[in-house]
Amino acid sequence: MQLIDGKKISSDILDEIMIQVKELQARGKKVPHLATVLVGDDGASQTYVAAKVKACERVGFESTLVRLPESTSEQELLEKVNELNANSAIDAYIVQMPLPKHINEQKIIESIFPQKDVDGFHPQNVGKMALNLPTYLPATPYGIIQLLKRYNISTEGKHCVVIGRSNIVGSPMSILMARNSNPGNCTVTLCHSKTVNLKEHTLLADIIIIALGRPEFLTANMVKQGAVVIDVGITRVASAQTKSGFKLLGDVKFDEVAPKCSYITPVPGGVGPMTIASLLMNTLLAVNSKN
Ligand code: NAP
Repeated sequence: MQLIDGKKISSDILDEIMIQVKELQARGKKVPHLATVLVGDDGASQTYVAAKVKACERVGFESTLVRLPESTSEQELLEKVNELNANSAIDAYIVQMPLPKHINEQKIIESIFPQKDVDGFHPQNVGKMALNLPTYLPATPYGIIQLLKRYNISTEGKHCVVIGRSNIVGSPMSILMARNSNPGNCTVTLCHSKTVNLKEHTLLADIIIIALGRPEFLTANMVKQGAVVIDVGITRVASAQTKSGFKLLGDVKFDEVAPKCSYITPVPGGVGPMTIASLLMNTLLAVNSKN
């Protein structure tokens, strides 16, 4: 069994981006500028946004954090989005999800300029992804593709079972694994809460990608010997053993599943660190496609 080290791969990618930023500067070009809009004070979102700002600093990007109060109306947020669309100094931006309940997320996503939508959530970018045209891939699936690529994990002709069909992880992941590309070229089964007898599917899988948010859901008796297991789930659970009083659990019962796997991602330190690296890769793409 080989552990897939997302922390290391993400750090390698940030180093590669830093070199490219230095090259841009050497050619007299402006450095990439990524903005993030954060509405309200959701704890997880604040942590995530702070990590993005830090990663921008590390690679030499400019970054702007736009903080808006929880009470911001949909109209006010749309005005901010229009401002960012029109601001030529900002190459790319994201609106941190989830948004407060009174704001229609889809409406906001559709108002972002597709050229600046480095989250890859705009329907135009999702369509391009499905058609295998150049575009921004959604950050978490893009990160998983990078892990498979950089560990030289063969995917062609393999049976991949994706569990979970969210717009940000499961659904795009199933599209990417089925595309005619490398990694890709899998035969894909997409499972969700209405799937009958999930175990019958997972036992046939060469590659399992699980994104549920249900701690330790995937157990050893659901996994074929030698399978590749990618665990996207991150759930914070109370723990008496840690100083902080909590620990992070993935969707895989790691201790019993790992010995059966050829490759497996840990939680934390697997898929998690890749998401920000992917976002910065997309931001660099936004700049390079203008140059
Ligand atoms: P989500 O929107 O809640 O979607 C969960 C999916 O799981 C849904 O499609 C649901 O099916 C399916 N599901 C629920 N119970 C099931 C069951 N018993 N059997 C089969 N399918 C079932 O979740 P998400 O946003 O994709 O996130 C999933 C997990 O990944 C969370 O723990 C999240 O924190 C984590 N995550 C991590 C990263 C990262 O590492 N950077 C990024 C994003 C998400 P239905 O569609 O039928 O309801």
